Amino acid sequence: MNSTILRTNRANEYKAFRNLVDEASSIIITSHQNPDADAIGSTIAMQEYLRSIGKNSTIVLCDKTPYNLTFLDSENAIVHYNPETDKHLLSLADLVIILDVNTYVRLKKVGEELQTASKKTILIDHHQDPVIEAELSIVDTDCPSTCELLYSLFSSDSQFIPTKKLATAVYSGIYTDTGGFRFTRTDAETFLIAAELVQHGADPVTIYDEIINSAPIGRTKLVGKVFQSMRLYFDESVCIVSISQQDFKETNTTLEHADGIVASLLEIKGVKLAVMMIEDVNRIKLSFRSKGDFPANQVAKVFGGGGHFNAAGGTLPVEFTLSQAAEKITTVLNDFSKYL
Ligand code: 5GP
Ligand code: MN
Repeated sequence: MNSTILRTNRANEYKAFRNLVDEASSIIITSHQNPDADAIGSTIAMQEYLRSIGKNSTIVLCDKTPYNLTFLDSENAIVHYNPETDKHLLSLADLVIILDVNTYVRLKKVGEELQTASKKTILIDHHQDPVIEAELSIVDTDCPSTCELLYSLFSSDSQFIPTKKLATAVYSGIYTDTGGFRFTRTDAETFLIAAELVQHGADPVTIYDEIINSAPIGRTKLVGKVFQSMRLYFDESVCIVSISQQDFKETNTTLEHADGIVASLLEIKGVKLAVMMIEDVNRIKLSFRSKGDFPANQVAKVFGGGGHFNAAGGTLPVEFTLSQAAEKITTVLNDFSKYL
């Protein structure tokens, strides 16, 4: 078997993508709130690719880059949107490339601006049920990460040679969105692409050190608090944990330090669904992670959110206490008991 047999052919999508890009003179790249490595990685990779074909672009994100992903933005090029000073960036653009997200709501202020401006848009994403209507939508829900999707798209360009920066960005998004090559949808193509990225300068050890082995001690203290908060339901097949504002304060951490904790609860044998409830500033943020045939995205939808089959998120109003939120979640889960 060779890689050309396994590689998804995106020649037609690439042609359509290239036409829109070639026509554009001012390009904005954006991605979702609370950006993860797939969001940051895909925006950096897109900018790097556009540069290689002679196109300048600006990355505009609605939230700041988390502490462990700043290494991907080595030129400090990402603009963290401030409506007071950055509106002109969006109004001047004649093409917007939206990556790793499919609703304007998750672009917050940037989304509000783009939705009313009705710009020519390219959507490239791997989430289900896209809401954003774009000139060109390249959506592959079988793909484990937007970074992998982008890499296979760029590979349709016979001139494409990944730089080390692009390879590092793409590898980072692939690595984290597959949970380190272990979540469903990780397949031979993912590994083939990862191998190519390593050949082109992505260093798995350095990337792991940057993303995972770089947390402040407060994060481990936060993990301790999360584990202490654990409650099990439905014959110990549902695990619910929480983080309060007080927990963040006591451990000197913020929302960005909570990333990745909820998935570790699936290590408990018999747990099919893990739920993290976080007291954020103006909402209760809910994260759902599931194993096997439990549809986490269906539960997330009940809470105004969505995501992937096994990894999804939603929200509850900030007025809910954490124990009221847990009660609400278990009530909703009664409708999903056939999966538990
Ligand atoms: P996380 O729990 O890490 O915030 O998000 C897990 C997954 O669910 C991600 O793929 C994210 O894109 C998706 N997700 C999280 N929150 C929301 C939401 O409010 N709406 C939608 N549509 N997807 C979400
Ligand atoms: Mn993603």
